[in-house]
Amino acid sequence: MTADPTRVLVLNSGSSSVKYQLLDMRDASRLAIGLVERIGEDSARLVHTPLTGEGAGTKRERTERIEDHAAALKAVSQELERDGLGLDSPELAAIGHRVVHGGLKFSEPSLIDDEVLAEIERLVPVAPLHNPANLTGIRTAQALRPDLPQVAVFDTAFHTTMPEYASRYAIDIATADEHRIRRYGFHGTSHAYVSRKTAALLGRDPSEVNVIVLHLGNGASASAVAGGRCVDTSMGMTPLEGLVMGTRSGDIDPAVVFHLGRVAGMSLDETDELLNKKSGLIGLCGDNDMREIGRRIGEGDERAQLAFDVYIHRLKKYIGAYTAVLGRVDALVFTAGVGENAAPVREAAVAGLETIGFAVDAERNAVRSDVPRIISPDDARVAVAVVPTDEELEIAQQTFALVGDARTV
Ligand code: ADP
Repeated sequence: MTADPTRVLVLNSGSSSVKYQLLDMRDASRLAIGLVERIGEDSARLVHTPLTGEGAGTKRERTERIEDHAAALKAVSQELERDGLGLDSPELAAIGHRVVHGGLKFSEPSLIDDEVLAEIERLVPVAPLHNPANLTGIRTAQALRPDLPQVAVFDTAFHTTMPEYASRYAIDIATADEHRIRRYGFHGTSHAYVSRKTAALLGRDPSEVNVIVLHLGNGASASAVAGGRCVDTSMGMTPLEGLVMGTRSGDIDPAVVFHLGRVAGMSLDETDELLNKKSGLIGLCGDNDMREIGRRIGEGDERAQLAFDVYIHRLKKYIGAYTAVLGRVDALVFTAGVGENAAPVREAAVAGLETIGFAVDAERNAVRSDVPRIISPDDARVAVAVVPTDEELEIAQQTFALVGDARTV
């Protein structure tokens, strides 16, 4: 009898890219990581790094024409094969797919069957940029290994516990229901992982703690998590709502859209592009990388300073709002590229909030580390923490748990 398979391949399929990680769930170790970008172009690029065996840690790159997602996955499969990690290996237990929009139906990861595929397809009108790419990734993987369990892990799932008064927009209810207009929230896999890790850092059970999570990457969102359940989050029907992001405006008066149409003569597509791709930090100062903004501020650049100030002001408003939503806050946690690395952002976000319990210790905040850590002073009322996110590990764990459960049934 052979041992049960323990490997999980995690796939994050975008419209022209695929990111992947192969994990061994016995110890949650990475066996290989990589990405394919510019799919459909002559100069598509595959970057693959095995993390086990002879070539461990040595990056391999290929630049060639990669026609479509099927060709991309085939190329990935070849690279894995070279490392003795081929996708036809009996050790592969499942493939876990990141799926951006699961609507209201998917509050848990789901074993993919025709019904699940049809539901993801039905959600395309509310997630036109993401769900089609996710579907392509799933179908391609199914064609490659039709016998293998495939699991969809939804970015929206963690937020399905939001009470209706938090997920409703105050608009005509019949119109909202007909078009499935409501707040869904995103980055859920990260908010779930980080809020659980934060409870562990405090030595408490997730059911006992109230946490505000600030996921600050290029996309950014905040969530209020009470006793392990999400009760509010800043992204809405789409990832455009909420915090100021790298290229997205976040909260804005919707009448700006009417004004741009009526007065500036912009089409809806142009406005969509303006708010999603040319706003936020890049819109305000021309850069969306917080490292570059920090450098410019150091040189006295006023526009970079303004972008930083707008970003921080919005963050503070959400910290205050979620303090009110939760009533009692045990921890405020920073995660993702900016949250994990930008000490000045963390410092500025809580500056002046001492009276409502938030403070960072300057020395602790300055430490660079990739382990979860508390950066507030010992006597602080609220623990302020930095907890690196790991969405791929969370997807792999949820996938493996579901497949394991299916096997024991
Ligand atoms: P996403 O997954 O949303 O693309 P990440 O979570 O990887 O984004 O975050 C990317 C962002 O993190 C970059 O745009 C950059 O602004 C920020 N970042 C990364 N490293 C640092 C650093 N050392 N200091 C400040 N900001 C950083």
